[in-house]
Amino acid sequence: MGLPKIVVMGAGFGGLMTVRGLQKQLNHQEAEITLINLNPYHYVTTQLHEPAAGTLDPNHTRVAIDSLISRDKVRFIQDKVTGFDPKEKVVRLAGTEENLSYDYLICALGANTETFGAKGVLENALLINNLNSARMIREHIEYNFARYQASGEKNEELLTIVVGGAGFTSVEFVGELVDRLPYLCAEFDIPREKVKIITIEAAPTVMPGFDKELVDYAVNYLSGKGVDFRINTPIEAVTEDGVILKGGEEVKAANVVWNCGVRGNSLLEETGLETMRGRVKVDEFLRAPGYEDLFIIGDNSLVFNDEERPYPPTAQMAMQQGQHLAKNMVAVLRGGDMTPYVYAPKGTVASLGRKIGIGTVGKNNKKVFGRKASLLKKIIDARWFFILGGISLAFKKAKL
Ligand code: FAD
Ligand code: NAD
Repeated sequence: MGLPKIVVMGAGFGGLMTVRGLQKQLNHQEAEITLINLNPYHYVTTQLHEPAAGTLDPNHTRVAIDSLISRDKVRFIQDKVTGFDPKEKVVRLAGTEENLSYDYLICALGANTETFGAKGVLENALLINNLNSARMIREHIEYNFARYQASGEKNEELLTIVVGGAGFTSVEFVGELVDRLPYLCAEFDIPREKVKIITIEAAPTVMPGFDKELVDYAVNYLSGKGVDFRINTPIEAVTEDGVILKGGEEVKAANVVWNCGVRGNSLLEETGLETMRGRVKVDEFLRAPGYEDLFIIGDNSLVFNDEERPYPPTAQMAMQQGQHLAKNMVAVLRGGDMTPYVYAPKGTVASLGRKIGIGTVGKNNKKVFGRKASLLKKIIDARWFFILGGISLAFKKAKL
């Protein structure tokens, strides 16, 4: 009999935590571990709003997967997963006709964009989904700023940036944008007051569900930098010319960035698994219902709190799940028992550009504001690089 085959799909927060836990804890002849990822690099999803706004070099957010895995313990396949069959226990890949068989499958493919039925989102909006979609936002805005000057018509829609949703991604993105604008305007000889940033939120508040005092702090800070917030205003469609709001009002803009939420990877639905907004409600061992060998983590998993409300999908949870799952896999392979996964939230910190932030920390949700929160956020970012590549990578990538 061959070695048990463990296949991990996705080298993001969840997938890498699992693989690195496995390679550390397992001996050479205990399992055959395969990691599949679209790109030869890992990108740090939690930083994508920065290259999107143009405040960070996109290369800063990525790390070569080769440098993160032990090649003698982990086989890396750079390919696109096009599907998997939990009954046949195979994974399908875009680059080969041959299916990859597994004994244990770990799905850590990250999120897809949620449209909530709004029309034209995927066709017309810019998305902060991956490294290249983030790059496209920066370049799209720069291109439109250049067009504004080149055309001679001075069409101000080219300088209008509509940001859909006012959740964490939007607030962090807008925070970076307001930092970038003075440089961008200087580069393209455009008066700052000509540029409009309009953040449009369906709910009655910015960052719904988050601490009101911190939300007010963020809104006051960003409004003071010229950001216009429109709440209670669902976007119903994104067109080539801008967005259409509920009630029919059109906001014309050449730059529309959609951050109205995420759903699980479409491959889970295509596989026939029961999902809620594309995510699978996993059991206490992070398994899909009905399968002992299919584990789902990160943005594709749905974990509920004591009040039966789903936790939001975060890197924090994906990391904890990956770490826990690696321990459980090792236990299973050695004939032991798995332990249940229980999420342990450590807090939530969001940046408002380079120097300012907001957050809640620890069990008592202690509030942090301003520079302190910004520093904390940078430490959290640096910690991920430390986990991945030790002190040298953390030093190389830290933005302290
Ligand atoms: P990911 O980390 O997104 O990784 C998925 C991986 O799968 C990627 O490498 C991708 O290329 C690969 N992949 C996808 N499809 C395929 C395919 N078909 N075939 C092969 N490979 C594939 N959370 C926090 O806790 N704190 C934060 O501060 C925070 N900030 C955020 C900021 C932004 C701008 C965004 C967008 C999200 C932020 N989040 C934050 C949420 C966090 O990024 C996600 O919850 C987290 O990345 C989920 O981890 P994951 O492993 O499920 O997916
Ligand atoms: P989100 O779901 O947190 O926010 C999306 C926002 O868009 C919501 O406020 C929602 O009401 C609004 N919305 C939905 N449909 C709309 C419509 N048609 N028109 C206008 N507004 C609409 O999504 P996100 O901000 O992309 O974040 C995704 C996940 O990543 C979340 O779990 C979030 O907690 C996490 N995240 C965390 C951080 C952090 O901790 N610093 C940063 C970014 C993202």
